[in-house]
Amino acid sequence: MVLPYKPEPYKDFSKEENRKPQLDAIAALEAKYGATYPLFIGGKEVKAKETFASINPADKDKVIGHFQKADVDLAEQAMQAALEAFEEWRFYDFRERANILLKAAQISRRRRYDINAGMILEEGKNWLEADADTAEGIDFLEFYGREMLRLGPNQPVTPFPGENNELRYIALGVGLVIPPWNFPWAILVGMSSAAIVTGNTIILKPSSDSPYMGQIFTEIMREAGLPDGVLNYLTGPGAIAGEYLVKHPKTRFISFTGSKEVGLRIIENAARTAEGQIWIKRVVAEMGGKDCILVDEEADVDAAVEGVAVAAFGFQGQKCSACSRAIIDEKVYDEFVAKLIPRVKQITVGPTTDTANWMGPVINEKALKNTLAYIEIGKKEGKLLTGGNTVEGNGFFLEPTVFGDIAWDARIAKEEIFAPVLALIKCKGFDDGLRIVNSTEFGLTGAVFTQDRTKIEKAKRLFHVGNMYVNRKCTGALVDVQPFGGFNMSGTDSKAGGRDYLLLFMQGKSIAERF
Ligand code: NAD
Repeated sequence: MVLPYKPEPYKDFSKEENRKPQLDAIAALEAKYGATYPLFIGGKEVKAKETFASINPADKDKVIGHFQKADVDLAEQAMQAALEAFEEWRFYDFRERANILLKAAQISRRRRYDINAGMILEEGKNWLEADADTAEGIDFLEFYGREMLRLGPNQPVTPFPGENNELRYIALGVGLVIPPWNFPWAILVGMSSAAIVTGNTIILKPSSDSPYMGQIFTEIMREAGLPDGVLNYLTGPGAIAGEYLVKHPKTRFISFTGSKEVGLRIIENAARTAEGQIWIKRVVAEMGGKDCILVDEEADVDAAVEGVAVAAFGFQGQKCSACSRAIIDEKVYDEFVAKLIPRVKQITVGPTTDTANWMGPVINEKALKNTLAYIEIGKKEGKLLTGGNTVEGNGFFLEPTVFGDIAWDARIAKEEIFAPVLALIKCKGFDDGLRIVNSTEFGLTGAVFTQDRTKIEKAKRLFHVGNMYVNRKCTGALVDVQPFGGFNMSGTDSKAGGRDYLLLFMQGKSIAERF
């Protein structure tokens, strides 16, 4: 009997008892800089011909580790290992599969500070963001474990005289799991554990910006007793291993989270039937966003300013749910701007090993250059109100940047930048605001600040996003509290951390026995 699921509480780093082990874990990982990590295929540690380095974006000469650059031969080896393991794993008692997730959650709690340290050094998360990510991964393990206990037994059907009727959910086969780098623990853990607990075997290909976090997860699942070949950990370029495996005839499903461009390419490739393929590949793709906060004339402006600042610049704006547009009623626009800019100027930027820095670096040089290019576009499209520059240091640091007077259809109001850049857009009343809210191709998250009940209800109907919030920020969804996933070009309408998520990794088999 397991206790009901509840979200994992966060660590309070103002307490020395939490601060000290976190500092020790950071030092321990720094002491391992430059280590080489293997692939993990069919229960064996395997090396490739070449490796690549994962670096610390806050101190770019520091190498978190060298990781294997898997090629097509190794991708095929991983596929064969996953196919072989599937024949046993699919028939494992669902309670045993669930138990492995619950055990992994417990090991993750024990290794919590190591996991946090990984995200502080490899992705530049601040301590609270890293800890929230770790807690979310634990939540996925706990929640999906319990969900399997619910979905594992035969499901209810209407009794029919003279027959015994059953509906069982069974596994799909070998899945390719491709997570992004920005929630390098939570999303990787959630996507992988959902696929595994439902009886599938997987090839996990992490982002090349966050392979260390996949390494930790692999270690934890091994310790939790996952049989060989169920999780095959394959680092390397997305285009080689990823494309080969997406097109592979034995790939049964692909679980992807990342950009719209890569997601659409995967959907297109997976839709083509390969020679020898006997099924239609299932693709769950969770993609980008251009999320916004709508500030009504009847909003609590102070609360809206705080919500926008935190949602726009938390983790350097590199969340799929980050607020990159604030749409403000023209009647409160000046007041909002006058309060927002000093608030944003308070944000501290630098290496997040030092807790005095709230914002760390962006993930890599490409992201830095791409953002600087968008900042130039922003200068032409509106008024630079604060930021716009790089910040000194040996990393990819950028000031939190705000542009005012941006037209609703400007490029920086429509394209995902995925960085600390916020566009302020004026609207003429609430209906015009809602029109602008829905004017991009995305539909992931959004929030509305208003005290007006009629407007709140209207927004609930018309604000077309998968995750909508009222009078709070648009980031920070919790597992099974706010199941997460967006509409339109933000993805395939799935809800990670929701009660229908595991069904995406299974198929229903109806059995009728006459007697
Ligand atoms: P990305 O699309 O560049 O990469 C995602 C993953 O795809 C990585 O593991 C990458 O190695 C792999 N990949 C790259 N090319 C590939 C190919 N041709 N075939 C197969 N795999 C390939 O995205 P990213 O930069 O890692 O993450 C940021 C993006 O993810 C943003 O757009 C963000 O909005 C989105 N995101 C969405 C959600 C959501 O829940 N909707 C959550 C987090 C991030």
